[in-house]
Amino acid sequence: MTVGYECSGHIRDFLHELPKCEHHVHLEGTLGPDLLFPLAERNCISFPNGFPTSVEELEKRYKKFSDLQDFLNHYYIGMSVLIKEQDFFDLAYSYFEKAEKDGLWHSEVFFDPQGHVERGIPIEIVINGFKKACEKAEKELGITTKLIMCLLRHLPSEDGLLTIKSVNTYYEKGWIHGLGLDSSEKPFPPELFENCYSFLKKNFPNIQLTAHAGEEGGPSYVSNSLDLLKVTRIDHGINSIKDEKLMERLANEKILLSICPLSNVKLQVVENVGQLPIAEFIKYGVSFSINSDDPAYFGGYILDNYIAVHESFGFDLETWCLIARNSINGSWCDEKRKLEMLNAVDKVFEKYEKLLSN
Ligand SMILES: [Zn+2]
Repeated sequence: MTVGYECSGHIRDFLHELPKCEHHVHLEGTLGPDLLFPLAERNCISFPNGFPTSVEELEKRYKKFSDLQDFLNHYYIGMSVLIKEQDFFDLAYSYFEKAEKDGLWHSEVFFDPQGHVERGIPIEIVINGFKKACEKAEKELGITTKLIMCLLRHLPSEDGLLTIKSVNTYYEKGWIHGLGLDSSEKPFPPELFENCYSFLKKNFPNIQLTAHAGEEGGPSYVSNSLDLLKVTRIDHGINSIKDEKLMERLANEKILLSICPLSNVKLQVVENVGQLPIAEFIKYGVSFSINSDDPAYFGGYILDNYIAVHESFGFDLETWCLIARNSINGSWCDEKRKLEMLNAVDKVFEKYEKLLSN
């Protein structure tokens, strides 16, 4: 049920200024119609019959996905316009610019190399473009960044393993910081990818591990990701609420859930943001961050997601600062950066506590 809290004036400004970390955004999912058509033209790409032909028409189509698969079908068509290093750079940098305007301080971004390699795009082109955008974002926007490579779970795990092996040099150079697992959760449970995760853990023990679980899949997808893939973060994870023991475990082991409110509504995982178990996560002490997932497709970047949560839950400043701190502490940036962000949270709190008490 949506309660309906207003999010305007000081509280909106507070959410805007609150230092935000994003842990769950697919760079390919930031490809909006405004960038898709120019890239298609630049690369002489034509779309399948029946595909919208204008920005407006495509935006309209993006407003009504029937399910995850319908969205993924559009997502993969969208990816086809990404050909050159400059395209990957433009894609990532335009996301960083948008997110910085939303008050983003730190961003851990996903990318799906298999979706490009299977189209004949060399993996170096993809990674070089994204890496250059990360460097420019750090330098010019002051955002810290991490690249997380995801495996597409609808492809065989042997393909995933080959993909991991093909980016060895980038793990060594520290250009890629983590491994994730995305695309349709069912019927591809985490155990199918145990070989990929164990290979990486053995060869690059410092690489961080995460996986999408508990969005479509039940709590066993979450616990099997923790037990078999040895992940330290869960992307989505909202179905953990169905298993009390799992909730206690997530809290005890300080596992961060990267939740994506507007995405969940758009893909009809829930009817509205108010149905998400966000208040229960807080009650159980389960850490989570609020993320945009595929913002170009789901109608909102990170601040829109914060606002949507506020409109449904009406949290006070203390609760919002707790969410911000948990999100910072669950990040994979260094301690110095965490401290900078934590201090900034305190400052924002002090400023708005005064403003709101007047
Ligand atoms: Zn996702």
